[in-house]
Amino acid sequence: MNHKTGLDPLDWNTFRGQAHKMLDAAIDQMENAADRPWQPAPTDLQDRYKIGARPASTDLLDRIQTDVLPYHGGNIHPRFWGWVQGTGLASDLIAAMAAAATNENMGGRDHGGIYMERAVIDWTRKKMGFPESASGICVTGTSQATVIAFQAARLRVLKNLRATGQGDIRLTAYAPVGVHNATVKALQLLGIGSDNLRQIPLQDGKLNAEILRETLAADRADGALPFLLVGNAGSVDLGLFDDLNQLADLADEHELWLHVDGAFGAWTRLADAPWHGLTDGIERADSIALDFHKWMYVGYDCGMVLIRDEDEHRAAFAARPAYLEGTAQGIAGNEPWFCDYGIDLSRGNRAIKVWCALEMFGEQAFADAITDNCRMAALMAEDVEKRPRMRLGHAVVSNVCTFTANDTLPPAQQSELNAEIALTLQQNGTAVFSTTRVDGIVMLRAAIVNHRTQASDIRAALDAVADLCP
Ligand SMILES: *Cc1c(COP(=O)(O)O)cnc(C)c1O
Repeated sequence: MNHKTGLDPLDWNTFRGQAHKMLDAAIDQMENAADRPWQPAPTDLQDRYKIGARPASTDLLDRIQTDVLPYHGGNIHPRFWGWVQGTGLASDLIAAMAAAATNENMGGRDHGGIYMERAVIDWTRKKMGFPESASGICVTGTSQATVIAFQAARLRVLKNLRATGQGDIRLTAYAPVGVHNATVKALQLLGIGSDNLRQIPLQDGKLNAEILRETLAADRADGALPFLLVGNAGSVDLGLFDDLNQLADLADEHELWLHVDGAFGAWTRLADAPWHGLTDGIERADSIALDFHKWMYVGYDCGMVLIRDEDEHRAAFAARPAYLEGTAQGIAGNEPWFCDYGIDLSRGNRAIKVWCALEMFGEQAFADAITDNCRMAALMAEDVEKRPRMRLGHAVVSNVCTFTANDTLPPAQQSELNAEIALTLQQNGTAVFSTTRVDGIVMLRAAIVNHRTQASDIRAALDAVADLCP
């Protein structure tokens, strides 16, 4: 935009042309995602992004095409299975434009975005089997959702916490070994301290109830106040699920708040049998954290916390100083406001990505994609087991497959080989695995939350792994 002052385009027609060009480029990128794997950033990319190095001008679109679109994080590609990263959806393009055009502040007040977020929460609440008395809020992701849930859990046992702080009371929390670091970080941020997180060993892939009971008794005898039990619905490393009904019984028995980390795995609730049953009991939790940007495929970022009892949710966050007082009518109407359910006052419309996705493709398409991803992980496991030197790290439960490329080597050499294979396949654009340690060995790990993956992608990737195997 070639003018010295002013923040609206001087010529909206010129802008219209640029914006249409951007939309075409974005659609091309999505349509041809299979031809656009991750690639390393050129050495001068930092310099190219330097603010003000070039005159503000109309070549922005060219720069986006040459400097921005090619250097994405790889997760749009059909053979990207590293970490747990969703692919993004075509509906995101439409949602992003609508969100930018409305630019709603979702902290509260009376406008369409608030009604839309409530609709998205209500849909999710029903999918997870929570009662109508439940509440929720869209957040950046499970990390933030976890902080919100734990704060509400803490309020249940420390009614004056908001005014007085935690003081000398030592709260303790319980979670299965392998719980995501989001739980650790939330306890640190809230001043509870990660030393007060007891990581309970697993038995058959699930939290060991007997050890939990013993640990609770020991902590109580030691003067601690146990308050929180965290269950996994899809552990990050291996995709394991706790027996959530058993955890709900334990939480009742020991008066603990039950929080379920369902960042990706909660969505098996939409899948066919047998995967649907993995989350049985999730409806009994006090809170659930989950992400739309992982296994609901919507673009970053969007997660949600659901809290079973709205009163407990509000008790932890609601506060309305004079400058935020609501009114019966007008823009300041439409209680409740989302600022009373979380950390942020000003917030963007994340729900619109979920809403557009569900309204564009329909719920069944998501259920099918999630089921299909589980089938792809099972197929990968089957293929691994057919190859003489490869070996699974753990039986596949849902959508996560871990394996070593050559189990005839000593552990240290396997680790080295697997790490090298992951790197080579990333760098040559073939496929993206990440790595994790299983029984001390660095293994290749695929977490399939990718609606573009087909059986041919799985086979091609394993062929490529085999080719790199001495
Ligand atoms: C990704 C993940 C988290 C953290 O969620 P973010 O959305 O990245 O903040 C927590 N738990 C599990 C199991 C995860 O996979």
